[in-house]
Amino acid sequence: MAHPKRRQSHTRQAKRRTHDVAKMPALAICPNCGAHYLYHTVCPSCGYYRGKLAIEKAAEAEKSIQATHLRYAVQQTCIIKAPGS
Ligand SMILES: [Zn+2]
Repeated sequence: MAHPKRRQSHTRQAKRRTHDVAKMPALAICPNCGAHYLYHTVCPSCGYYRGKLAIEKAAEAEKSIQATHLRYAVQQTCIIKAPGS
């Protein structure tokens, strides 16, 4: 395999690396709630996409609360059952 004839100076290496910077993605402002979101995606804050409700955030929150309660109930049952079994 080909090898470089001369080693690159630290300056030249640094100059090349000036372009290796992570850039912030362009964000849009939601016309429904005013939060920032990525273009061509559903707003993560209110669940609207192009002026229409795409994901019902309230329903999702309710589901997650129910799941948490269920997990807690299962945990409690396991703790109660553990000494006897
Ligand atoms: Zn929104």
